[in-house]
Amino acid sequence: MDTTGQKFAAKALPYDASALAPSISEETLRYHHGKHTATYAAKLNELVADTPFATRSIEEIIRTADGAILNNAAQLWNHNFYFDAFSATPKAYPEGALAAAIDKAFGSFDALRGRMLHHCTALFGSGWVWLVRNQSGKLEIIEAPNAGNPLRHALSPLLCIDVWEHAYYIDYRNARADAVASHWDKIDWAKIEQRFAKI
Ligand code: MN
Repeated sequence: MDTTGQKFAAKALPYDASALAPSISEETLRYHHGKHTATYAAKLNELVADTPFATRSIEEIIRTADGAILNNAAQLWNHNFYFDAFSATPKAYPEGALAAAIDKAFGSFDALRGRMLHHCTALFGSGWVWLVRNQSGKLEIIEAPNAGNPLRHALSPLLCIDVWEHAYYIDYRNARADAVASHWDKIDWAKIEQRFAKI
């Protein structure tokens, strides 16, 4: 529950809407968080009303639903996870166990960055690029079209980059590569370390 009184809601941003500019402008955040994400939440609440999903967690819905309920639940979850990874004062690189896992899977943090950004431009149409941990403990990069979410495939999500046009079109127009490279610089690796420690 939140101030809307609804079960499912966009999480409050952990920074001011202007805090990530110019990488992500206040206008983009106000639309992306305040309009797009809020609409996924409102739609999900509407769709699950009077269904068995109304009493389930959003993670359970993502694992078990289909169609519009799945799409809106996954988009809400993805956006809450996405916005929470940024900071106005980000830690620029990971350390400790996460850094070791990245080096083992990709060779280096710079190599991870290059591969993630490559997938962001390679993904055709709308979707997400995810850094996940698979069931054998190895890190992987996943391209997920549309509302794709790793929980659906028993993968543990660590980081997602939104490549839907609504994530960047106000600030970068069609220049997706420039957008994701700039968004990358606002990822707070202290937060990703915390996620990795909780898996
Ligand atoms: Mn989005």
